[in-house]
Amino acid sequence: MHRFFVPQIFGDVMTITGVDAKHISKVLRMTIGDELQIVSDDGVSALGKISYIDAVCVKVSDLQIIAESHEPKVKITLAQGLAKGEKMDFIIQKAVELGAVSIVPVTMEHSVVRLDGPKADKKVERWQKISESAAKQSKRDIIPQVQNVMSVKEMLAANDCATKIIAYECEDQTSLKAALKKASENEKINDLLLIIGPEGGISENELELARNAGAVPVSLGRRILRAETAGLVAMSAIFYESGDLGEY
Ligand code: SAM
Repeated sequence: MHRFFVPQIFGDVMTITGVDAKHISKVLRMTIGDELQIVSDDGVSALGKISYIDAVCVKVSDLQIIAESHEPKVKITLAQGLAKGEKMDFIIQKAVELGAVSIVPVTMEHSVVRLDGPKADKKVERWQKISESAAKQSKRDIIPQVQNVMSVKEMLAANDCATKIIAYECEDQTSLKAALKKASENEKINDLLLIIGPEGGISENELELARNAGAVPVSLGRRILRAETAGLVAMSAIFYESGDLGEY
């Protein structure tokens, strides 16, 4: 069942335009009476039937609200040290499929990649499109926001989540499991900032900045994971632990 985000407050008839209308009519070749899911600007998901269709406009009616949420209880913001090449595309796509609510691309000391000004804006625009496409495919109820490229300091200030975890490759005392247990006991687990370094790792200075902002350094085990693996492993473990991959 295809799902489309409609920039409109929920109402009796939802109108899809632009590239989505063209995709529905020309690529999916859907017709009147066909069913699809919509998500409105105010976050209502519903199943509806096409009541009008051409290449620029698709109207969806007979809307039945979808009660169950597709969103995880734990709201993870992934702060990802800028990784090389297409890796950020991959990380953003997988983070959205898994359930991240927001992603912050972070310029870190050991990042090979340097992005600023118009180049950074262009990249964020591209990554936001990747987020929207992954949100449609994975049937999210929201389109996770890709924030502007930030420094570590800016990222910490802009994402003051209740729980902050920094996956640190040199950490050998605290496991992710232990950090999550403590956060749950303090009932702070549902609003979580997860910081992952770039290929070059996290510098002492960055670790200090994160610690001073209340982040807990955790180990993800004795094997060194690639930058594009670590965040996904950590998010999967967090969602497993919280029951967001299914309680049954
Ligand atoms: N350059 C580092 C080194 O050789 O030790 C490796 C950095 S790793 C490729 C990229 C990021 O993934 C790290 O900065 C960290 O955030 C995370 N990471 C990878 N393996 C990890 C582990 N075993 N424990 C905690 N974090 C890990």
